[in-house]
Amino acid sequence: IVAITVFIAIQLLLFILSTLPTFLSDQILMLELWSIGVASCCWLLTWLFARQLTQPLLALGKAIELMQRGETVTIPQTTGRDEVAQLTRQLTELVASWSRQQEELKTFNLILEEMIEERMVAVETINKKLKHEIIEREHIEQALQLANQELQRQSLEDGLTGIANRRCFDERLEQEWKRAIRTGDYLSVLLLDVDFFKQYNDIYGHQQGDKCLQYVAQTLAESVQRPSDIVARYGGEEFVVILPETDIDGAKQVAERIRQRILALGIVHSAAENHTLSVSIGAATATAKMLMTPQKLLRTADNLLYQAKENGRNRVEVAMVTEFSRVA
Ligand code: GH3
Ligand code: MG
Ligand code: MG
Repeated sequence: IVAITVFIAIQLLLFILSTLPTFLSDQILMLELWSIGVASCCWLLTWLFARQLTQPLLALGKAIELMQRGETVTIPQTTGRDEVAQLTRQLTELVASWSRQQEELKTFNLILEEMIEERMVAVETINKKLKHEIIEREHIEQALQLANQELQRQSLEDGLTGIANRRCFDERLEQEWKRAIRTGDYLSVLLLDVDFFKQYNDIYGHQQGDKCLQYVAQTLAESVQRPSDIVARYGGEEFVVILPETDIDGAKQVAERIRQRILALGIVHSAAENHTLSVSIGAATATAKMLMTPQKLLRTADNLLYQAKENGRNRVEVAMVTEFSRVA
């Protein structure tokens, strides 16, 4: 339109110039008039064409721009059978299908959210159940641990007297022997036997005999002073005491104290000397040297106990064991 307008303007200028005298001939004037006429027709046609094609296209462009910004738009409708009308219809269909898809997507999203919510609830329920099971398992494990500890304690304890049993004694003697090897200290063992106990049972009954053994065990436990001292029931009416880091004098002292305290209990035993229950004790001391064994120490204590019995019971026999000792 701009080009044609410029062209018409130039023609008009030429026409004005041609009206001036002696400037142009009549033929040229006619030609000018014709060309102005043709250019004006072209201008009119172009204007009509722009109105028919460009305006709707610009409107469509504007609508697309709004759609891109996410706004809801209505496509400006153009009637007719030309390309613009066809383009408008297709675009309208496209927008409708796009809107449908949007709606479907929204519905799908909602369903998806509901499904996720359901899953979350299910997962939470399972989690709660799992936590509950874990807590229950922990309780069971704790109870098991306690039961195991109790079992272990019982397995090392003498049922009748409540002091350490023979098994515990064997373990502790091994341990103390190893410690004595490391430190080079003395280790003493006392072996104790109740005098005339068979007769005690015969006279006073087995139940009374059991009670008597409990008193003896209690007195034994109360007679040792160091936390490292170990008192155990060796079997029947025999007891044993381990005295770590204790030399022969110390062993004799403890053995005497035990003997006197048991005598001081004043348990009546009509078949015993002075009619009182007594004990005999064999006490052996050694240093853990290479050629020695804890068994040899124990054997020596047993032999000393035998000697105490032979020498009249209710007494303590003590000896130091050496590698060359012949006592054992
Ligand atoms: P001795 O002075 O020579 O040691 O004589 P004793 O009668 O004590 O020795 P002996 O080894 O002949 O008898 C041990 C008795 O101890 C046999 C049994 O009647 C008794 N005895 C062993 N274990 C138990 C027990 O657990 N309870 C009771 N009540 N008596 C027991
Ligand atoms: Mg005995
Ligand atoms: Mg006895």
